[in-house]
Amino acid sequence: MKPRYTHPKVLSFEFYPPKTEEGAANLKVVHEKLARLNPGFFSVTFGAGGSTREKTFDTVVEIQAKGIAAAPHLSCVASTKDNIRTILTDYQSKGISKIVALRGDLPSGMLSAGEFRYANELVEFIRKETGDTFEIHVAAYPEVHPQALNADVDFVNFKRKVDAGANAAITQYFYNAEAYFYFRDRCEQNGIDVPIVPGIMPITQYSQLFRFSEMCGADIPRWLRKRLECLGDDRASIQAFGLDVVTELCQKLLEQDAPGLHFYTMNQSGPTLAILENLKFWPQP
Ligand code: FAD
Repeated sequence: MKPRYTHPKVLSFEFYPPKTEEGAANLKVVHEKLARLNPGFFSVTFGAGGSTREKTFDTVVEIQAKGIAAAPHLSCVASTKDNIRTILTDYQSKGISKIVALRGDLPSGMLSAGEFRYANELVEFIRKETGDTFEIHVAAYPEVHPQALNADVDFVNFKRKVDAGANAAITQYFYNAEAYFYFRDRCEQNGIDVPIVPGIMPITQYSQLFRFSEMCGADIPRWLRKRLECLGDDRASIQAFGLDVVTELCQKLLEQDAPGLHFYTMNQSGPTLAILENLKFWPQP
């Protein structure tokens, strides 16, 4: 069968740094399975306030050594310029050329915001310190960042990151495709021409998704929430239903010219692979 979606639609897969040996062994297998799809890069999250600094670094270096680019997430809240400079130098020395630049959230109990207030300041700092060494990806919020004053102010703040030198954006996950299309149109109308890559969260169970979505301001549409509530603890039914819903979402996004898909894998390959299999998203030969 002819592949439906190939290059230039770029895939990327997000991991968090494993905390245990068992987690590390699992991630190796997950990475191997997803690497077969020849993604543009794997990204690795950075714990609030730098709590996973070493583990993020080690995971990124290990992935990069296996041949496909790895992009560390780097959040600047509660950090100093010296700290960020050291991290950038360490990554440069390992040949890392992509980075996901974020503000992050101040961990509870931590009072000092450090030397950076917002992600645009981090992007500016990375450009000033390292020139064009890094391809910089930033976060975008089609459904509006939860702390934003309003959608217009949030959009202006997003534009600051692009103006500071970001090369691409990855969105918070969403289940309303229209929110993405509206956001992308707004970018085009405002001269923002970097790729806005939709962030995709597979649905595998309800309570964790609900909790996450409350925290990060992602909307679970009423029809979807009600349906998931009905399925209760029936994991197999939730997974089958979630697969249909997210496949359809991705299909719509790709058919209407999304530049690629970024999967929040939660260090699992199954749900992501099932969606890509449904989409007939095959790797380049
Ligand atoms: P910013 O772009 O700085 O925006 C934060 C808020 O401040 C927004 O409300 C914005 O409107 C406002 N704002 C921005 N700039 C200004 C300005 N100059 N003046 C006034 N207001 C401003 N978190 C982690 O801890 N680790 C991760 O690895 C991680 N990875 C992520 C990956 C992706 C793709 C996404 C979408 C999110 C990720 N997050 C991660 C979550 C992220 O850290 C939070 O959403 C955080 O609250 C905002 O980070 P940001 O970079 O979007 O911040």
